[in-house]
Amino acid sequence: MAGKRVVIVGGGGGGDAAAFALRKRGFEGSVVVLSADRDRPYDRPYLSKEFLRGEVELPKVYLHDEGEYAAQKIDLRLETRVTGASAGERKLTLADGQEVPFDILVVSTGGTPRRLADVPNAYNALTLRSLRDSQAVRDALQRGSRLLLVGAGFIGAEVAASARQMGKEVLMVESAPVPLARALGTEVGEVYASVHRDKGVDVRTGTTVTEWHTYGGRIVGATLSDGRREDVDVVLVAIGIDPNLDVPRALGLQLDGGGVKVDEGLLAADGIYVAGDVAFHQHPVLGPIRVEHWEVAKNQGRGVAAAITGAGGAYTRLPYFWSDQYDVSLEYRGHASGEDRAVWRGDKDGLRFSVFYLRDGRVKAVLSMNDKKTNEVGGKLIETRKEIDASALSDESSDLAELVPAQSS
Ligand SMILES: Cc1cc2nc3c(=O)[nH]c(=O)nc-3n(C[C@H](O)[C@H](O)[C@H](O)COP(=O)(O)OP(=O)(O)OC[C@H]3O[C@@H](n4cnc5c(N)ncnc54)[C@H](O)[C@@H]3O)c2cc1C
Repeated sequence: MAGKRVVIVGGGGGGDAAAFALRKRGFEGSVVVLSADRDRPYDRPYLSKEFLRGEVELPKVYLHDEGEYAAQKIDLRLETRVTGASAGERKLTLADGQEVPFDILVVSTGGTPRRLADVPNAYNALTLRSLRDSQAVRDALQRGSRLLLVGAGFIGAEVAASARQMGKEVLMVESAPVPLARALGTEVGEVYASVHRDKGVDVRTGTTVTEWHTYGGRIVGATLSDGRREDVDVVLVAIGIDPNLDVPRALGLQLDGGGVKVDEGLLAADGIYVAGDVAFHQHPVLGPIRVEHWEVAKNQGRGVAAAITGAGGAYTRLPYFWSDQYDVSLEYRGHASGEDRAVWRGDKDGLRFSVFYLRDGRVKAVLSMNDKKTNEVGGKLIETRKEIDASALSDESSDLAELVPAQSS
């Protein structure tokens, strides 16, 4: 391993974690991180929350001090976009034509926000992925007071909460019947719709923008499919991402599930690993999944480092994510599909509850709103892979920890 050269494409959650984990595991070869971003790796979840609201400022947003890269002998190259790659020749090509050879490659290229074709090219029509995007949204919100959010997924919902906390008027337009429908299903989505409405967000679901109104290079209004015309100062289009698959395509990797197919150990091809939003992972407990969440990207990055240093095997960690909106804290472990049976436990109206998702009697995921402890035990129930009595899950007087077999509790 000593003389090997690991090249990591992507300086986000997955790529950064892989680089530092390699050093932590004693990897002595060279570690190069190629990142198209202008900034050194930062904590992306802050960008729709604390950083956007001005509660956390720049140095704290970075994952590491600048000097740590040199100290750990991590060759971080910013503003460096990989535009070509050859798996056979073990080399990458950069936008400036330079070639970068590798022995082992890690791909963690994340995604690019989707755009809507009909949104005018205006300076106040924004998307949110990078630190600079977040700064732009923040600046725009300082100048204007009316935010139109197109899309009520996690980014849209979190920005709505932040903007309300900043005292802005928020209009949330979502074509689905409820916010967060795709990620969390209709019933939990309804809970979020009322949370946002209670906080003063104008939530218009089952609605789209039918016409944009511009003046002097900026969007000043939108007509919605409900026939109403609204004035706006800032528009944020938050309708999800397209995974960045150009590099995997150039490498000839197998694409599936919206990402790159990797085996249980996150390996896509000989010496080529994939982590984060672009990884379509054959999860040993949950089956094939691709997850667009922070902890998953970071943990997969660490999993790749383990594999490279010979401590790999199947990557078994359960997906975990959270979302903070106002004082509502969501945690989610595992992975559910739309067909799974939902079993509720707790106080839905009081916003303190959990939902277990069962397939063939086994818990596949647990979602918790302001209910951290249940979520932790839920994770253990998923790992047991045993059939669980649904009535015990819904019965608040039952001690869930008792359902966890002794060796896994
Ligand atoms: C505003 C915001 C808030 C979020 N909040 C949460 C949250 O609360 N909880 C949660 O679980 N998840 C959250 N997420 C999701 C989470 O941030 C992502 O799942 C995570 O960042 C994915 O990590 P990654 O390494 O796969 O990709 P990224 O972090 O996107 O990193 C990809 C990197 O690859 C680089 N890159 C891409 N293509 C190339 C190329 N060709 N050459 C060189 N470099 C390239 C990019 O510049 C970038 O540095 C949030 C995301 C956003 C945008």
